[in-house]
Amino acid sequence: MSGFFPRVVVSCRSSEKGQAPVATLQDCKAKMNALAATSRNFKQATKLLGWCTIPRDDGSLASFVGFRVQHDNARGPMKGGIRYHPEVDPDEVNALAQLMTWKTAVANVPYGGAKGGIGCAPGELSLSELERLTRVFTQKIHDLIGIHTDVPAPDMGTNPQTMAWILDEYSKFHGYSPAVVTGKPVDLGGSLGRDAATGRGVVFATEALLAEYGKSISDQRFVIQGFGNVGSWAAQLISEAGGKVVAVSDVSGAVKNSKGLDIGKLVKHSLENRGVKGFGSGDAINPNSLLTEDCDVLIPAALGGVINRENANEIRAKFIIEGANHPTDPEADEILLKKGVVILPDILANSGGVTVSYFEWVQNIQGFMWDEEKVNRELKTYMSNGFKDVKEMCKSHDCDLRMGAFTLGVNRVARATVLRVIRL
Ligand code: GLU
Repeated sequence: MSGFFPRVVVSCRSSEKGQAPVATLQDCKAKMNALAATSRNFKQATKLLGWCTIPRDDGSLASFVGFRVQHDNARGPMKGGIRYHPEVDPDEVNALAQLMTWKTAVANVPYGGAKGGIGCAPGELSLSELERLTRVFTQKIHDLIGIHTDVPAPDMGTNPQTMAWILDEYSKFHGYSPAVVTGKPVDLGGSLGRDAATGRGVVFATEALLAEYGKSISDQRFVIQGFGNVGSWAAQLISEAGGKVVAVSDVSGAVKNSKGLDIGKLVKHSLENRGVKGFGSGDAINPNSLLTEDCDVLIPAALGGVINRENANEIRAKFIIEGANHPTDPEADEILLKKGVVILPDILANSGGVTVSYFEWVQNIQGFMWDEEKVNRELKTYMSNGFKDVKEMCKSHDCDLRMGAFTLGVNRVARATVLRVIRL
């Protein structure tokens, strides 16, 4: 395994359509230098690759910046998604890469942590523009990723098709290697159950938490922020288990029905109308007030930082299950803990995605495909073991679930690091 340091790779940044991104690239360099100054390891590892430019469908040129941050590989190949979103920047990708290191350790899958992203608005790009961008980005990072070094996966704004392009482009340089990405289409070696895995994992984790309080999904009312891959699967599985989903939002709007939304119909509506807005069997509400709606369990499953000091005091849920990555900022965390709200942290709650990514990687290496029932059964085992291990930490350190999860993750990474670094 090469390089034992966190490594940051910056390739390209979005600019005004058709303009060379010189100023933004300099801005990036300044940010990278600032980050490097805060960490010796970071400094050794920082690498700038330059931007990439693609022709738009109308013939103009557009430039975008992409990143791959490789945070840690003490426990195995680095692992983490690739995000396409306008707010992607080096600080965010770095923070998300670190979260992956602790998440894979808490899930107890043999990986380290990494994250990538491109600063772009995928909804404003055509399919062929997205393909060109993904292929150019892959050309920049193909020698940094690999089956035993760094294995990308989907994240916000990317999907199995994106992984198929990365796999195809990577294979031009290195030969056909399905295990180099996870979250692929099933026809290219993707795992059955991977699509639903993060949402399913959220539901398994929720069940485990509620059981500690003598409750179950069927007696709870849920509010879910985000109706993409994580939120929509969580909503479907919750409603299958008899839980009442009373409000849901996505980028298009928010809908509420105190008697419980018909999730099957809402999924159909959202696919046909590119969002939950306009759903007939519910009332439209202001998406900004969704998080403070009356409910028992709140599942933020969209962007980071949405629960903050502005709204933390107003939150009425008794349980928060973090389907998104870092949806709760530290100030809000403190406020909510004081209020007695129980928070199941992201690095445990949403670890179902990377866990089934691990199953996919194992299946590719074995050349043997599991059936969906086995995938879901194994996922349940990993989620409930993760929950038990975190609870154990909380007990022995007398701390909340977030602290317990981080203590568990950091300890596992530290043990692997010491075993590999200390020589007698
Ligand atoms: N993007 C997902 C996450 O944040 C999945 C990562 C993976 O499967 O490698 O956990």
